[in-house]
Parts: sequence; C-alpha cells; structure tokens
Amino acid sequence: MVIETRSPEETFRLGRKLGEAARPGQVFTLTGDLGTGKTVFTQGFAKGLGIEEPVNSPTFTIVQVYDEGRLPLYHFDVYRIGDVEEMEEVGFEDYVMGDGVSLIEWAELISEILPEKRTAVRIEKDLEQGFDYRRITIEELG
Ligand code: ADP
Ligand code: MG
Repeated sequence: MVIETRSPEETFRLGRKLGEAARPGQVFTLTGDLGTGKTVFTQGFAKGLGIEEPVNSPTFTIVQVYDEGRLPLYHFDVYRIGDVEEMEEVGFEDYVMGDGVSLIEWAELISEILPEKRTAVRIEKDLEQGFDYRRITIEELG
C-alpha cells in the first residue's frame, strides 16, 4: 500500500490510524533517510494507542517504553547502534516477543535480527513533488 502525504500532520494522522488499529505483538519497521518523518509517524502512532506523553527519538537510549496507552509501545531508534549484539543487551528479543507493539526507526541497520513477520513502513521524499511531500509504502512481511 502506498500513501502520499503533503504535511507532517498528514503523516501523523496516518500513524495515528495505524496505532488505533494496532494489535499485541505487532512489529513495525520504519526506514527512510534522516528527516523523512519516522518520528512524526511514531508520534501519531503513540497518539493512536492513547499515549499522551510526548514521544521523541530515543537516540541515546535505543529503546523508550510507553506504558500508558491501550498497549505498551516500545519505540526503538537504532541509528547509533554499533553492533547487533547491543540489541541483545537491551533485551530486544523480549520486547519483540512481548505483548506490546514495537516500532523500530532505522530497522535496516539490524535487518539480521528482525522478526520475519513484521510491517515495513518506508518513507521517501521526492523533491520534485515539493519539500513536504512524502511517499509512504506499507508492506506486510512474513
Ligand atoms: P526522522 O525521524 O525520519 O529522522 P522526523 O520525524 O524527526 O524524521 O522529522 C521529519 C521532519 O520533516 C519534521 O521536521 C517534519 O516537520 C518535516 N516534514 C515535512 N513534511 C512532512 C511530511 N509530509 N511527513 C512527515 N514529516 C514532514
Ligand atoms: Mg527519528
């Protein structure tokens, strides 16, 4: 499925819709260059789960857990990961196998340890379509 958005609000709303529909144990991978909107999408997703506290990129902690919503949200940003073994140390397996929903920014950096069953969200710019244009491709894998 391909969705085109033309503002951060639209990407937020798409995330919110998916957050409203999320089921326990789901894993979403978010890929796309820096500044494409992975965190904006995640903020909408969190809202859709009923999380009211602010969500930002957990760049220095790898994972941030939000417990106040309909389901726990495990928000990963693995941009600064040096080695996939670091993921083991933060308990990646337990999160991914757990009943919460995992959202992983920069998931391509840990492709070898991603579960096969996941929802891939890819965000791309196309400057010919304008600065705020994003093409968002959502694909069910596994
Ligand atoms: P990432 O997490 O992918 O590095 P962010 O979500 O932190 O990116 O930032 C995306 C930036 O792009 C924000 O400054 C946002 O306002 C801007 N932006 C402009 N247009 C869009 C759009 N259509 N969707 C999402 N973000 C957009
Ligand atoms: Mg981000």
